[in-house]
Amino acid sequence: MRRLPGEDGGPGVTRALPWRALALFLIVAGAALAAGCGDDADDASTEINVVTTLPLFADIVSNVGGERAAADSLLPPGADPHTFEPSPSDVRKIAEADVIFANGLGLEPSVLRVIGANISSDAVLVELAEAAISAGVSTIPTTGPGGPDPHLWMDPRIGREYAAIVRDTLTLADPGGAEAYSASYETYAATLDDTAQNMRDATAGVPPADRLIIATHDAFGYLARAVDFEVAGFVVPGPGQDASPAEIADLITTIEDLGIPAVFTEPQTSLETRTLEQIASDAGAEVCQLYSDALDDTVRTYVELLRFDAEELARCLGGSGG
Ligand SMILES: [Zn+2]
Repeated sequence: MRRLPGEDGGPGVTRALPWRALALFLIVAGAALAAGCGDDADDASTEINVVTTLPLFADIVSNVGGERAAADSLLPPGADPHTFEPSPSDVRKIAEADVIFANGLGLEPSVLRVIGANISSDAVLVELAEAAISAGVSTIPTTGPGGPDPHLWMDPRIGREYAAIVRDTLTLADPGGAEAYSASYETYAATLDDTAQNMRDATAGVPPADRLIIATHDAFGYLARAVDFEVAGFVVPGPGQDASPAEIADLITTIEDLGIPAVFTEPQTSLETRTLEQIASDAGAEVCQLYSDALDDTVRTYVELLRFDAEELARCLGGSGG
């Protein structure tokens, strides 16, 4: 396995290689992959077998890679990456992958452990968050101990950087696809630029005093930064953790003191969603929903996720005329 760019991937590990070193490293891996292509290809249109952790990363890969780089996610659409445990069929997908994209920064610890134990010796693992940091994006700290908030893709400008890393990685793994990957990236990057502007337009009417997000877990710092909001609180830093009665009481006080009209649950958080629904009931706030880590039948792609969230912030916090 070639783990990039960190080595052990534990929470808070940020000793990433410079991007240039990553690129050189990938050239070596890419040459090995290119030499092996065609030996056992069972689908003429697919050149490399790509696996991702999150479904929304598979969507990004599909936008950049098209049919040449068939992407499959280990997590199903509604799964929570913080607590997801891979199954035996996931192990097979990992072992057969040429390229694996994860997020890293502690987002999906169990999945990365299983990837590390089962990835093929000539396959490439890229941790998108760590590679984006190496490329120069600025991070937001988490509230507790540990490194930066791992949910970097919630800012579409950083999502564009993720797509560029995907383009570069696919190009090195499959040089014959270089032109196709580059052209697809340019189209997708323009879509992400439009999306960033649409998000700002959609939320422009929310009054300054109401530009506050309270959610089920600490996933919205980058979204908030992208649309000039702030995170005012959350039930737990990450799903699977416990909120104490004192923390719940503090959150109710925050909602009441700031006059926050709505709070936001997420489809993949069940226990935390029930807790936040009770908090909202006690504080007299509306319950709305945002997407961060998971997709579903309503929000099927990364771009749909971003647009939904911006429109939901506006709808629930008073920015869409009602
Ligand atoms: Zn999360």
